[in-house]
Amino acid sequence: MLSADLVILNANVITLNPRQPRAQALAVKEGKIVAAGSNDEVGGYVDGETRVLDVDGKTVVPGFVDCHVHMTGFGQQLQALDLRDVKSIGDMKDRIRRYAENNPGKTWILGGRWDHERFAERRYPNRWDLDEAVPDKPVFLVRVCGHVGVANTKALKLAGITRDTIVEGGKVDVDEVSGEPTGILRENALNLVWRVVPKSSEAELEEAILGACRRAVEEGLTGVHWIVDSPEELRLIQKLWREGKLPLRVYLGIPAKLLDEAVRLGLATGFGDDMLKLGFVKIFADGSLGARTAALKEPYSDKPETSGMLLLSQRKLNQLILEAHRAGWQVAVHAIGDRAIESVLKAFSKVLRRHPSMNHRHRVEHCSVLNPRLIRWMKRLGLIASVQPHFIVSDFWVVDRVGVERARWVYPFKTLIREGVVVASGSDCPVEPISPILGVWAAVARKTFKEESLTVEEALKTYTVNAAYVSFDEDKKGIIEVGKLADLTVLSEDLFSVPPEKIREINVEMTIVGGKIVYEKRQNT
Ligand SMILES: [Zn+2]
Repeated sequence: MLSADLVILNANVITLNPRQPRAQALAVKEGKIVAAGSNDEVGGYVDGETRVLDVDGKTVVPGFVDCHVHMTGFGQQLQALDLRDVKSIGDMKDRIRRYAENNPGKTWILGGRWDHERFAERRYPNRWDLDEAVPDKPVFLVRVCGHVGVANTKALKLAGITRDTIVEGGKVDVDEVSGEPTGILRENALNLVWRVVPKSSEAELEEAILGACRRAVEEGLTGVHWIVDSPEELRLIQKLWREGKLPLRVYLGIPAKLLDEAVRLGLATGFGDDMLKLGFVKIFADGSLGARTAALKEPYSDKPETSGMLLLSQRKLNQLILEAHRAGWQVAVHAIGDRAIESVLKAFSKVLRRHPSMNHRHRVEHCSVLNPRLIRWMKRLGLIASVQPHFIVSDFWVVDRVGVERARWVYPFKTLIREGVVVASGSDCPVEPISPILGVWAAVARKTFKEESLTVEEALKTYTVNAAYVSFDEDKKGIIEVGKLADLTVLSEDLFSVPPEKIREINVEMTIVGGKIVYEKRQNT
């Protein structure tokens, strides 16, 4: 009998494999599953070299994959000063001072997410508050909304902001008495500071990336569809891959601005190995519902003078998709409003008519504002709906934004699945939390338009089976089966047996990638 590297016993294994839905034990050798069955059946794989994990009835599922995440941005957010829970300006000063002391290497103190509505003083912080905390380094902290920020004197100086600064589409607040800038900057005035903030050093970027990977595996992810923004990022990911430091599998999404270069080099989707692989090219068709920049067919219900905007003309969109498709790239188009989605479907129709392909697996990212006609059209074209369930929770204002009739067709996951569209899930972190457990909970326990809520199995599949399909990996992963990669997430409870509302409380106990334990929750003894 084979001896295994790792054997998991006394588990509640949910395989998502229709031929053997449940198992009690698993054996792993050389990164792959070699046996699934009862303790007795799998126990024979144990020899002196085998690591044996008795998980004491805990639940094991196929490793979660996040199909849409900005890992570097997430890592940078983790590194930045987070003032979300600050209750007073005094407290804010302490936190800034301490952060500066603990991060002596940082030339700028950046971060924010403060909310003056929570402050005892009920006023905006100002440059003089910040100067008291850190006088010798520039400090720039953005409010939780992202539309207002506060800078200290040093940062204002570097940004060249004075009492006379005028910004189109923005505002530099000034003191009523002295006429000097208070440090509060609004909208486009924020860019005056961003312009002078130095780019992250390579070491900082690497630290951010590693931090994001650490958090991702803590949340139970064994793979991510990682949307990169720059060649620097891509170089660092490759470096970590070479050094064996990537704890989870990466499927890369490159920005449209790098498509020409990639095509010229002859690169295409699928190049790489099981740990790091070229994925898709990401194209933007519109903006967001939050900012009312998503392109709708009819005006916004709470701002009838606007209906958002398309970022590309139909011609340009057709061209981009054509170029990527012909060069062998999977295409992922960000489209949120129904007008944007329609434009994207038109483009795909045209391209696929001229260059048919049975196996393109092109995807629409977010595809938020749908309707039955668009859903059937997506199905006909074989497009994947790459969705982020937690938006259901965060976009609680959606009925105000688009009215109840259209809101019915925002995030209609159940109808998508019923109509035969492949639905894959992700987080869009750092916009939303990276936890796939929260995503499953949001899709299952939704409170609005409940007819669109998913069963636990459907939701789980969007992060596993379907995610594997999206990266052309369905023969390698997505379910627990002999011969598949040993990517596993161990959970504190069975998500099928807890009430839907409790799914969010389930903990990740352990994350295993290719048979290697990349995260293990510390036992509090
Ligand atoms: Zn995104």
